[in-house]
Amino acid sequence: MSFVFENMTSKGHEEVVFCSDNNTGLKAIIAIHNTTIGPALGGCRMWSYSSEAEALQDVLRLSRGMSYKAAIAGLNLGGGKAVIIGNSKKNKNEILFRSFGRFVQGLAGRYITAEDVGTSVKDMEWVRMETEYVTGLSRALGGGGDPGPVTALGTFSGIRATVKKHLKKDSLAGLKIAVQGVGHVGYHLTKYLTEAGAKVLVSDLDKKALKLVTNDFGAKVIEVDKIYDAEVDIYSPCAMGSTLNDQTIPKLKCSIVAGSANNQLKDEIVHSQMLKKQDILYAPDYAINSGGLINCANEIEGYNRKRAFQQAEGIYDTLMNIYDRADNDNVTTHEAALKEAKKRIDDISKLKNVYLPKKNLMGKRDSL
Ligand code: NAD
Repeated sequence: MSFVFENMTSKGHEEVVFCSDNNTGLKAIIAIHNTTIGPALGGCRMWSYSSEAEALQDVLRLSRGMSYKAAIAGLNLGGGKAVIIGNSKKNKNEILFRSFGRFVQGLAGRYITAEDVGTSVKDMEWVRMETEYVTGLSRALGGGGDPGPVTALGTFSGIRATVKKHLKKDSLAGLKIAVQGVGHVGYHLTKYLTEAGAKVLVSDLDKKALKLVTNDFGAKVIEVDKIYDAEVDIYSPCAMGSTLNDQTIPKLKCSIVAGSANNQLKDEIVHSQMLKKQDILYAPDYAINSGGLINCANEIEGYNRKRAFQQAEGIYDTLMNIYDRADNDNVTTHEAALKEAKKRIDDISKLKNVYLPKKNLMGKRDSL
C-alpha cells in the first residue's frame, strides 16, 4: 500500500477511490487531485492497462494535469480523472457504466466525470442514469455534445497567439502547418487553418479520416513517420501523447509546436528545455487544449454553445500571458504555465473563510 500513498503524496493528491464490482466486472480508479478551486472534473478513460500499477500511474498523472488545466483556464473547477480497466472495443455495456455512475454518485459531487479516450457520449448517458455528476452528454439531454469543435477553436486561437508572439504575424496566411491526427479535434482544426489561408499537411493512421479532410478542405497528406522531418512552420500534435521526445525533437524543422494532444512532452522538464534551446516556441498542452474542459464546465452552469466558443477563444490571451511570463522569468513556457496554474490555486486557498449564509436563512416570516 505504501506504493499508493507514496505516489499520492509526491503528486499532491487528495483522494483515490478504487471501485470494484464483481457483478458487472467493473474495475475502476477515480483520482481527485485538488479541489481548492472547485469540484474535480475530468474524463473517464477506458483502456486495457497492462497492470493495475500502470492504471494508477495514468489516473494520478491525468488528474493532476486537470487541476492545472482548470486553474489556467480560469474555471472554478478542481482536477480529477477516472480510469476503467478494460477493453473499450469489447467490454462496454450499460451495467458497467451504470455501476461506475453509482461510485461517482457516492462521491456526492466531489468528482464530476465526462468522456475520454475509450468512452463516448452514449456511455456517459448510462452514467447519467445513476448520477447527475456527469458532463459530456448529448445536446438532447442538455449537454454540450462533442467537445471536439470547441477544443479545435481553442487550439486555433492558441496557434494564432503563438504565431503572433514568435513570428510577429497577425495572420496564418501562407504558413505551412502539419496536423498530426485528424479525428474529432484535428478535423475541425484543419477547417479553421485552411479557412485562415494556411497550407495544411495532415497525417493519420486512419485512411477514412484522411479522406474526409482532403475532400472537405483540400489538405495535403504527409506520411505518418515523415511528419517530424517536414519543412513546416508549425507542428500541431492532435493525436497521441509523448510525441515530443529525444528522438523527435532533434528532427523538428518548425519554429512552433502547438496542438491539442494531451501530455505532448515525454518528459515535461527535459523536453520543454530541448524545445527552448532549438528556439521552438511550445504552446503548453493543458493551456491550449482546454476548450474541451471549457465545454464541460459550461454544461454545469446550463449549456450555452455561444459562450463556450467565446471562452475557448480566450485561450489566445491565456497563452500570450504565459509567453510574456516565460520571457520575463527566462523559463520554458511549460514552467511558466505551471507556475501560473499553481499560483491561482494557491491564491484561492488564501480566501478568507467568512460565513456564507444559506439561501433560505431567514425562512418564511410573517410580513411586517
Ligand atoms: P480522436 O481519437 O478523435 O483522433 C485522434 C486521431 O489521431 C485518430 O484519427 C487517430 O487515427 C490518429 N492517430 C493516432 N495515432 C496517430 C499517429 N501516430 N499519427 C497520426 N495520426 C494518429 O481524438 P481527439 O478527440 O481528436 O483528440 C486528439 C488529441 O487531443 C488527444 O490527445 C486528446 O486527448 C486531446 N484532447 C482532445 C479533446 C477533445 O475535445 N476531443 C480535448 C482536449 C484534449
